[in-house]
Formats: sequence, C-alpha cells, structure tokens
Amino acid sequence: MASSTKYIFITGGVTSSLGKGIIASSLGKLLQSRGFKVTIQKFDPYLNIDPGTLNPYEHGECYVTDDGAETDLDLGHYERFLNVTTSQNNNVTTGRIYNNVITKERKGEFLGKTVQVIPHITDEIKSNFYKLSEDNKYDVIITEIGGCVGDIESLPFIEAVRQARWDLGPNNFLVIHLTLIPYLSAAKELKTKPTQHSVKQLLEAGIQPDILVCRTEHHLPSDVKKKLALFCNVQLNSVIEAMDADSIYDVPLLMKKEKLDERVMTKLKLSSKENTDLEKWKDFLGKLKNPTQEVTIGLIGKYVSLPDSYKSIIEAFTHAGASIECHVNLKLLSSEEINTDNFKEKLVDLDGILVAPGFGERGFEGKIETVKFARENKIPFLGICLGMQVAVIEFARNVLGHTKANSTEMDPNTPHPVIALMEEQKKIDQMGGTMRLGSYACDLKKPSKSFQAYGKSKIQERHRHRYEFNNDFLQEMEKNGMLATGKNPDTGLVEIIELKNHPWFVGVQFHPEYKSTVLSPQPLFVRFIQAAINNKIK
Ligand code: GLN
Repeated sequence: MASSTKYIFITGGVTSSLGKGIIASSLGKLLQSRGFKVTIQKFDPYLNIDPGTLNPYEHGECYVTDDGAETDLDLGHYERFLNVTTSQNNNVTTGRIYNNVITKERKGEFLGKTVQVIPHITDEIKSNFYKLSEDNKYDVIITEIGGCVGDIESLPFIEAVRQARWDLGPNNFLVIHLTLIPYLSAAKELKTKPTQHSVKQLLEAGIQPDILVCRTEHHLPSDVKKKLALFCNVQLNSVIEAMDADSIYDVPLLMKKEKLDERVMTKLKLSSKENTDLEKWKDFLGKLKNPTQEVTIGLIGKYVSLPDSYKSIIEAFTHAGASIECHVNLKLLSSEEINTDNFKEKLVDLDGILVAPGFGERGFEGKIETVKFARENKIPFLGICLGMQVAVIEFARNVLGHTKANSTEMDPNTPHPVIALMEEQKKIDQMGGTMRLGSYACDLKKPSKSFQAYGKSKIQERHRHRYEFNNDFLQEMEKNGMLATGKNPDTGLVEIIELKNHPWFVGVQFHPEYKSTVLSPQPLFVRFIQAAINNKIK
C-alpha cells in the first residue's frame, strides 16, 4: 500500500468538459516546478477495457504511451505539460476493473465469497490508485476521476476515493472539486447553486472537497467566493477562480496567480521547495503569443468535425510553431469532401499539407487526391500512419502505373498490395489492444530529411496500426524516387518514406505527435513548418 506519497484526487461537478485534465496538468506542472516528482493518472468510468476500440467521434483521439497502452487523450496533456512519460498504469477504466475482478473470481481467488461492488470492486480500484506509488518514484500522484459527480457509473470510483482517505491518512489525501459558476446574462449574475448541489452530492458520498476550482467566464467577486465557501464547507482561500484562458498553456500561470499550488502544499504539509523553473514555460508562452511569421497548413482527415480526434497533432503544431516563432493557422479539411473536381480550390492556399492517421475506406480517395496534389505541386507534405500509407499507394498508382494499387485494408484483393498485413497480424481475431502499439526503434538513413530533422540516426517513436509497407515493392519504389529513409532495425519494416525530387515530402508509419511536449517540440513538425514557411516565401 501507499507509503508517504501524497495523493490529490480531482473530481468534476455540474457539467463535463470543464477541463479536469488541464487543471490536473497545470497543478502537476506547478508542483513539478517546485522540485516535486509528480505523475497524473486517470480513472474513466466507462465499460470499455480501454479507449482503443472507441470511434474518435465518441471520445476524441486515442493516445498511445511508450509501453503501448491505448489511453484517454488527457494522458497526452499530462505528458505535454509535465514532459514525463505515462504508462498503462496511468489510465484505468471501469471495464478494466471489472475484468480484473471477474478474472480473479473465475480463478477462485475470492474463496467462495459473494463478489460485490463494495468491497471487491472498490478494493480493485484502490489497488489501482496505489500502483504508481509502489516503487516510491513520486512525491505526488494526481488522480483525475473521469465524468461528473452524481453519474451512476462513477459511484464506485467516488466511494473508493472516500475509502482512500483512511488508507492514506489526512495529510496525504486531498480532494479538489472542479466546478462551473455559470453567468446568467439576463440577471447579470454569477450563480453558485449548481456548485452547491454538486458539492452536496459529494458530501452525501462522504467526501468533503478541500479545494474548489471554479471555472468561470467572469471574475468571482468576493461575496460569491464567500457564499461558495460557506455553503460548500471550504476555507475562503480554497475557493480558486479559474477564468477562461486564451490558451490551455496559460492555465499553469493563472493557477499560480490564484495560489492553487500553495493551497495544496499547505494542506498536504508539503514543505515548500523554492519555487523556480517556470522560465522555459514562460519563454514558450512568449513565443507562442508573439509569432514573427505565419503559415497555413491543411490537416486532411475524416474525423475533422471533432478536432479532439486530432488533439496531439494540433498540439504538436503549437509546440513546434512556437519554437520557431511561427503561428500555424491549421485548417481542418474533410477528406470526404475532396475529389478530382474540386481538389485545387480546396488545397490551393495551403503552405503545407498533412494527411492524418485513420482507419477504413471512407474519405480515402480524397486523401489520394490530396497527396497527388502535394507531390506534383511540390507542397511540403507530412503523412502520418494512414497518411504515409496513402502516399505509398498514390505513388504506386500514379508514378509506377499500378492503377489498382491499394492497402489490403481498403481492398483485400488488390493486384498490387503495397500496404499489407504482417504475418502475425493475420492470425488476430480480437480487436482491442492487438495492433502494433507503442514505442519501436527506427534507424534513419543519411542523408535524409528525417535525419536532418532528428539530428541523429537512432530514434524511437510510438505506433498504432496493423498494416505495413510491403517490402516486395521496395526496390521498384526506390528506383523511381520514393526512398525508405527509416527502418526498424529488428524487422526491416519501413518506418519512413521520402520523395527524392521534392522540397519536403515525408511519410511516417509511426505517430510523431504523441511525443511532442511544450519543452521538447517534435523535430519532424518543426522541419515541416519550416518547409511550409520556405514554400510560402518562394
Ligand atoms: N488503418 C491503418 C492501419 O491500421 C493506419 C492506422 C493509423 O493511421 N493509425 O495500419
């Protein structure tokens, strides 16, 4: 069980989408800047074992960790803010909890007992709360509880939080409740009642929040803060205002101004290490807000109506753009709406083109048209995962003349399967967790655009796909100008393709966006933006 590690639980009230992940990440950043070792974990109340099988429209992007866990997109925020990696243990769903308990029941591990939500499910939840503290690596573990207080499905998590207080002891346990203070414009008033109700629900469940973080569009006057403190049973200085911010990356500084970190440290009896190291963060914000140049880049994908589907890509542009003081005006375009008749007018004003990851046939031909346009017109191009596969197929069709070339994902009977399933993938019949997932090594060829970007020849990037470049076609491709510049050293699988006669055309089988953070922007994104700038000037 947990040792002296401090646990902060973050619950949400009134409505979903208040940004618990950003508050958790911002608090984590502030504590980290004071020298504490911090990680963040998320407990999600749905029954899927993990979000890997969810359509992006349901829940936004599926984020992938180094160890190959398919996780909630909030883990991406944790890594981007804290610049530390997360793992399978940082994201647990109700589905996983029940699966573990039922597996134990089938093995007879409960010795004939009736298996119940309390204590068996709550015990399993708690043992997952404590997993990350087992090797004493962290001073503070922040735990975000997904969903809203009062949801039927999050009840066992809330009950487990209540019980955790007694395992951990009051000095190691803290609850922050993130809530909304709506503004009624007709009455010109900020309303506290929804928060009072959601805190009552927490109290009914036996949890007294220590700190309220209040999302609001207007400053909270002191009488509103007093009212919240009085009715919600918290100290006045623990009612923290969280005004809407221009950028999620402003939130750590806003929370610092509101002294969220100080309140947390006082309550957890964490002796205040000297408050330092936000300089690099401020430097990043300065560049983000004062760009000296601008480019327009098109992100072509099929899930564009929900930008959260491409969260990590969007954020990677933010980090990379800021690092070279360039504002990236990202245009999300639906590949379903691009065809042979209209591609010019859709794509003509783009300085760079990114074809996004994805699955299935819908919008596929629009992506082919897009790649063709970028290749022929020498527009800087980055293809990620499916985007790289499309680039290979387009090249096979329009340069090699294999007009029916395809991926066996789209056409199992294609005469030219330039993208195909690996042998071990052919045997798989279960969908969840069975793709090629997580971090794999890649060796880069010199000279190449990729080597130029990374500045080294051995890299590791994260994967999430089933289909691969078919090496049977490699020689023919290379002879005609599409080069494999990155390969997996163990399997020989092609990880990166580049075009010889093009200013910047790179396709990657992996997902570079997952490893981009505020403090270490992803090199391919930086070079891609630079190439778009050069293209614009030309
Ligand atoms: N659908 C493709 C595959 O499974 C690409 C996946 C992706 O873009 N993440 O290989």
